[in-house]
Amino acid sequence: MEKAALRRAILDAFDEEEWAFLENGGKEIPVSDFNRALLLRLRDEDRSFAGDADEAPAAAMRERLTAYLARVWADAPKAHKYVIQSCLALAFLYELPLHPPETVHARTVVENGKTRRFCPMREEGADSVCRFCPAEPMAALEARWAERLAAAEAAWGGTSAHMQKEAYLAGFQEAGVIPATDLRFHEEVRRICEENRCRSYGTTWACPPAVGTPEECRARVLGFERLLLFSKAYPLSDSMDFEGVRDAMADFKTCSRELGRRLCSLPGRRLILSNEGCGRCRTCTWPEAPCRFPEDLQPAIEGFGFLVSELAAQAGIPYLSGGSSVTFFGAVLYDEASPPV
Ligand code: SF4
Ligand code: SF4
Repeated sequence: MEKAALRRAILDAFDEEEWAFLENGGKEIPVSDFNRALLLRLRDEDRSFAGDADEAPAAAMRERLTAYLARVWADAPKAHKYVIQSCLALAFLYELPLHPPETVHARTVVENGKTRRFCPMREEGADSVCRFCPAEPMAALEARWAERLAAAEAAWGGTSAHMQKEAYLAGFQEAGVIPATDLRFHEEVRRICEENRCRSYGTTWACPPAVGTPEECRARVLGFERLLLFSKAYPLSDSMDFEGVRDAMADFKTCSRELGRRLCSLPGRRLILSNEGCGRCRTCTWPEAPCRFPEDLQPAIEGFGFLVSELAAQAGIPYLSGGSSVTFFGAVLYDEASPPV
């Protein structure tokens, strides 16, 4: 079946009254906000779905979901159609997990322009609806982490491997170690900051000039033994997806703060650098008053004069993720010789 025909069949499953119910946010049938938004998006967005959707798995999923919902949600039969049609759209048109990624804590990995999602809640039983879901088992991602952590431990030591593990657990996709003695500082990156193309220069405690002179930044960094570069790539709908970039930036900051929280109970000194700006408070106190959250302050990696593409090459992690995507970078500076973690 062509995907365009599947889209038509999903839309035709609802009559005018049911579309009005979705549009008006009616509550008489328990339809989740997620499914409501998805169905309206499918109807309204200007997007064509190319290629074919396999008919047999789509029919099998419809049948399995019908039986499952009749069993576990027998008191709301009118809601079943909304769930089933949403799942068909997610699995066979959008190729997205059947549950909102944030509710199942799914992880997204973007590599070479391809987006993969890993779900820790996936059930592999023959009766499970998960077998129709495009999300892969989380164990596949964890196996990849285990391989990389073993390599990091052999190459750099236990503290480095632990830092890398914490970066994965905080939500980052890639991480790699660079000895501080190999780090290079670039005056021209700092000059780009001063040109203020990012509009963050001189607006927060996380950016120059508040982070200190280039010499002070350099001395701060070289007071540590190692730098762990971490990154996360985000899929975008196209190169004009400014909303996607904004959401990606917000998520990256959330992951950086999570890493800070995870590391704060460990022994030893550390400095975490995040992607440009701060963005934590609606209005920054700079320069009139001290930072409201100095213990969580994560200076911008660019403000320290690092060329991120050079760091990525040194750490052995991709600088670009291909296709329509954006990748952000941060770093944690630490001592390998910290007390064992
Ligand atoms: S794998 Fe299963 S639990 Fe995870 S999103 Fe898909 S359907 Fe939901
Ligand atoms: S945490 Fe708030 S006060 Fe501190 S640098 Fe960020 S925006 Fe400014």
